[in-house]
Amino acid sequence: MQIAIASGKGGTGKTTIATNLACYIARSGEDVQYIDCDVEEPNGHIFLKPEISETQTAAIDTPQVDAERCDGCGKCSQLCQYSAIICLKETVMTFEQLCHSCGGCMLVCPTGAITAKQGPIGFVDLGAADGVKFAQGRLNIGDIHTPGLIKHVKQHAAKRGYVIIDAPPGTSCPVIEAVKGADFVLLVTEPTPFGLNDLRLAVGMVRELKLPFAVAINRSDIGDEQVRRYCDQESIEVVLEIPDDRRIAEAYSVGEMVIEALPGYRKKFADLCERLKMTGDQVS
Ligand code: SF4
Ligand code: SF4
Repeated sequence: MQIAIASGKGGTGKTTIATNLACYIARSGEDVQYIDCDVEEPNGHIFLKPEISETQTAAIDTPQVDAERCDGCGKCSQLCQYSAIICLKETVMTFEQLCHSCGGCMLVCPTGAITAKQGPIGFVDLGAADGVKFAQGRLNIGDIHTPGLIKHVKQHAAKRGYVIIDAPPGTSCPVIEAVKGADFVLLVTEPTPFGLNDLRLAVGMVRELKLPFAVAINRSDIGDEQVRRYCDQESIEVVLEIPDDRRIAEAYSVGEMVIEALPGYRKKFADLCERLKMTGDQVS
């Protein structure tokens, strides 16, 4: 069962919930894997402290044009939605940083002038942390192929047990790539006007993708009632509430797991697991 932990904005406690959930499932004796798809700034490793056993270079295919074979028809440039290949008179220029590696230009080129060239975009680390299988992506500095790297990391998703996907924040292409195919999405938010605004966007995204989802409210005792009211109105289930507890912030600041530092919080993750199991039973 793939469970994506996502959030319309950064700093809501997504990684805290994702890592503690993975850790709780492992302590319960179940197979679990944590995948950090927040590849621009992966930080789940700070809490899980995995032993990395393997690091792979991730690369994507970008077009390479053989000028001798190009007749300047312009079909590649007409097809590309990202302006990553442009035909000017009889010269074809490529812009690797804009390329989404869809392969379309290679397919439409009538003369076979375009071939694929592999370009590195980052790394995928694989390992384990105290019963939790671990995978994370690390995007090369300055690279923009975030969805491409997320695709690479997700190829390492375990075929059995629970897979907890820590998605990047926001609602753009990288998040969609991370949550795509998940059996369940947990949207983490805060009870503030900013939290509500970004939750609305995130709900729109998962509804568009037709993914089952629920909400977790972090720092649930700050702010106001607007997030809960919105969830009520929209018939969205709130499956986890974590209060604004200074001890959690202290555990976070030294890279400690909440369920280890504050065992009283295990019950909240136990209840969340039960809820997820119900969805898992429906999925299977
Ligand atoms: S592979 Fe796709 S995105 Fe890249 S240049 Fe070709 S058509 Fe454009
Ligand atoms: S589609 Fe092929 S032949 Fe036509 S302009 Fe592009 S590279 Fe040249």
